[in-house]
Amino acid sequence: MLNDFAEQRKQLREQLRARESKDLYRRRLTLESPQQTHVLMAGREYLAFCSNDYLGLANHPQLIEAVCEGARQYGVGAGASHLITGHSSVHHALEEALAHFTGFPRTLLFSTGYMANAGVITALLDRRDTIFADKLNHASLNDAALISRARFVRYSHLDLASLERQLAVCQTRRKLVMTDAVFSMDGDIAPVTQLLALCEKYDAWLMLDDAHGFGVLGSKGRGTVSHFDTSSPRIIYMATLGKAAGVFGAFIAAQPEVIETLIQHARSYVYTTATPPLLSHTLLKSLVLIEEEEWRRERLTQLVACLKREVQSLRWRLLPSITPIQPLIIGENDKALEISEALRAQGILVPAIRPPTVPQGAARLRISLSASHTMDDVAELGSALREMDRSAVAPAY
Ligand SMILES: *Cc1c(COP(=O)(O)O)cnc(C)c1O
Repeated sequence: MLNDFAEQRKQLREQLRARESKDLYRRRLTLESPQQTHVLMAGREYLAFCSNDYLGLANHPQLIEAVCEGARQYGVGAGASHLITGHSSVHHALEEALAHFTGFPRTLLFSTGYMANAGVITALLDRRDTIFADKLNHASLNDAALISRARFVRYSHLDLASLERQLAVCQTRRKLVMTDAVFSMDGDIAPVTQLLALCEKYDAWLMLDDAHGFGVLGSKGRGTVSHFDTSSPRIIYMATLGKAAGVFGAFIAAQPEVIETLIQHARSYVYTTATPPLLSHTLLKSLVLIEEEEWRRERLTQLVACLKREVQSLRWRLLPSITPIQPLIIGENDKALEISEALRAQGILVPAIRPPTVPQGAARLRISLSASHTMDDVAELGSALREMDRSAVAPAY
């Protein structure tokens, strides 16, 4: 029997209620200030550990100035897709600067990391091919794999032996191993050197999603490939420009024939409006700050060490991570939510990350650090967590 419309709406409301009862309901916070370490929400100031603005550039005065300058020079909107008339000289200059910076022969700008991943995977692979993916990869890589229609093989997190067994028996036209370079919810780093060796042995491509490594890891912030001091024509490198770079967008860096293939076939590149050129103008400035201001990465290293000291006596453990992503594993959804809410009541924002973003039973506080945090900020978080560990808010379980 066909559902009538009222019945369908009722089903949606029931699904939402069910989600709420499992402590899985997502609610948006609304910021009333720029993205920075101290933010305003509903008129109250909070100390925030929840942005991906790792270098503290999202509200940088020189970048704000660059946006204004860019608007005066290029206007506000691109007005067309890159293949029609939306490709501006300043998009082009940014692509060249990114190629120079990352050491790849060419790069291509995309509007977002989500679209870059979708564009690459669907332009290079189809049902004749196989994708090998780490189980903790970002959702955008999984979605890209599904829409490509390639065979999709997922291996346990960092389990290279399992990956190798599956690569060894694969007979399809193309093989592509895809992985977060820095895992977004765990903060650990993919073993790029070993992955590359496997890709060479079994003639596969290696797609690295460096959303969280670009600007943060490697010499001058060149990213995870530089962190491992390696390079290979097999690597297809994706980095986003809305996290450490502080602005918006993403790019792919790869060999010329890969980039040309994307320009011809990546649907999320071809069928969408180019980003405002003023953003590229701003990102050129951001790239200079990333490269020249080493103190931002040094500060992050100090903050990570400070946080580790602050939380070492807690019953909850940080995952081993050297990156600004420092997850404190709580376990139960309701418990993670409870701690996050208790911190918020004290004026500290740390998001609780729950399934399906992370595995069942691994709900966590995702503490993310920014070069704009001070040691005092981290100490304040540490003492709030220690207090909670002692108090009835978080009884032993
Ligand atoms: C944020 C993120 C993306 C998506 O990038 P956007 O530019 O925000 O669309 C892709 N991959 C990973 C690992 C990310 O963390």
